[in-house]
Amino acid sequence: MRVPYLDLKAQYESIRGEIAGALDAVIARTAFAGGPFVEKFEGEFAEFTGSEHAIGVSSGTSALWLTFLALGVEPGDEIITVPYTFIATAETISFCGATPVFVDVDDVTYTMDPALVEAAITPKTKAIVPVHLYGQPANMGPILEIGESHGIPVVEDAAQAHGAEYKGRPAGSLGHAGCFSFYPGKNLGAYGEAGAVVTDDGELAATIRMLRDHGQDRRYYHKMIGWNARMDGMQAAVLSVKLKRLGDWNEARREKARMYEAGLGEIDGVVAPREAEGRCHVYHVYSARVAHRDAVFDALREREIQCGIHYPVPIHLQEAYAHLGLGEGSFPVSERCATGALSLPIYPELEPEQIEFVCSEMGTVLAELGPEA
Ligand SMILES: *Cc1c(COP(=O)(O)O)cnc(C)c1O
Repeated sequence: MRVPYLDLKAQYESIRGEIAGALDAVIARTAFAGGPFVEKFEGEFAEFTGSEHAIGVSSGTSALWLTFLALGVEPGDEIITVPYTFIATAETISFCGATPVFVDVDDVTYTMDPALVEAAITPKTKAIVPVHLYGQPANMGPILEIGESHGIPVVEDAAQAHGAEYKGRPAGSLGHAGCFSFYPGKNLGAYGEAGAVVTDDGELAATIRMLRDHGQDRRYYHKMIGWNARMDGMQAAVLSVKLKRLGDWNEARREKARMYEAGLGEIDGVVAPREAEGRCHVYHVYSARVAHRDAVFDALREREIQCGIHYPVPIHLQEAYAHLGLGEGSFPVSERCATGALSLPIYPELEPEQIEFVCSEMGTVLAELGPEA
């Protein structure tokens, strides 16, 4: 049985007619760059996240970068984040000329450990950026408290967490701003590149709107130096079609996760992901910790089960960040995760038989390798 890591085509088949109509409407109005379809989606996405404003941009990377710029982050500043994330979280900090200051993640949710944040704050700290990794919100309560007590804004990297919740509140709406990616493989994915920032801060929203469009709020009158980071109309139209179904798709992912949990529970050498108290995990990635990770990855691939690794190298050990001088052992939990994490196939259309097959093959492979690393 073949089990692909992801099958975007299966989802497309279920919405094909509606997508065709939506794209045709954009072309008929020639509303390609920004425009009415982007505005419509922004309204829908603001409502979905329970935020006052949503600003559509060209990618999740742009969302983070423009948010930091709009918060006034400058060369020499520091932003606290985690090393166990996708590179964009740190890269956008560096792209403002600021320095990412890392704190480790906790061992259960793989998100920012609030107990480590306070000690990382300096007079140069301009933001705290927890990442809702794999679709599970970070422990936002204590993180927001620390931010508040020091007057430092908290920006959520919610690029993997569309529709996730912390104590009943939508991911992205808890901090000062939330940054989303609509990269095609994300739980809410465009048919190209796109992203968004959500916030209740009208002034911040207005600045991000200008920054994404060459620093203008009126055509050819430029208040600040900006960039071209607009969302395009076709992506917005696709996202409007897909947003209506996101709740059902996330529920389907959660159901697949429950099936995996039941199937993996018996196997020695596997730690299945856990949903922490008070959080709704939307399983963008179903990352288990597995003994003999690389050997298991290869063995499953031979059995036509395609897995992923998110992420094999924590940011502080990437060549691009060698200048920070943070060697091995700096962030032990992140480093252990990077060695043991194996992402199993998960998407709403995945069949129960496929999950059973993955679990049974995993059991066979680990029995052969032995459960100890
Ligand atoms: C996908 C992702 C991003 C960047 O989003 P793009 O749309 O690919 O630019 C940022 N942070 C995290 C955690 C992501 O997973």
